[in-house]
Amino acid sequence: MQKKGVLFVFSGPSGVGKGTIKERLFKEFEGKIAFSVSATTREPREGEVDGKDYFFIDRQEFERRVENNEFLEYAEFAGNRYGTPRSYVTGLLNQGMDVLLEIDVQGALQVKERMPECVSIFILPPSFEVLEKRLRGRGTETEEKICVRLETACHELTYASSYDYQIVNGGTIEEAYAQLREIYLTCTKQN
Ligand code: 5GP
Repeated sequence: MQKKGVLFVFSGPSGVGKGTIKERLFKEFEGKIAFSVSATTREPREGEVDGKDYFFIDRQEFERRVENNEFLEYAEFAGNRYGTPRSYVTGLLNQGMDVLLEIDVQGALQVKERMPECVSIFILPPSFEVLEKRLRGRGTETEEKICVRLETACHELTYASSYDYQIVNGGTIEEAYAQLREIYLTCTKQN
């Protein structure tokens, strides 16, 4: 029988560097681990591609998918809706592919409850000040949206200890990635 893939749940506040660390994993383990592209009602940021970064849909379509039970989990984050496509994720896992979900804490809690065998990883900033600086430096959000994201970050950080693993992204990307790589190798070997 085909061995099932391992589901990884990756969370951390906006601006903590999740995207960069995660990209390294996909590059090194191409063909072994896939990224689940979520649906969102948020407007695309400059450079984001529909179907690659997110499936950008409107609220009505989002609600239709909720009604149809098409999401493994979904949540409201900083005024927008986000959801993980259920059939895509379970299909890949059944084919033996590992899958990484980059989702917020509300979504991660739902997934952990439904699929307790998943491996949850939280990325922490070295301090709140560093996070604020990174988020502002990114220049992708208005001041109002940055404030909402910082408030949300404060709340999210309180959930870090409920994850299976925590990684502090405080030094170089290489250091943070080395920890993620180790977790990935350990968890996929055990399965
Ligand atoms: P952003 O707007 O910066 O792309 O994402 C905002 C937050 O939503 C991030 O914490 C991101 O991980 C989370 N997110 C992205 N996709 C999903 C999803 O499908 N479900 C949930 N619950 N959160 C998501």
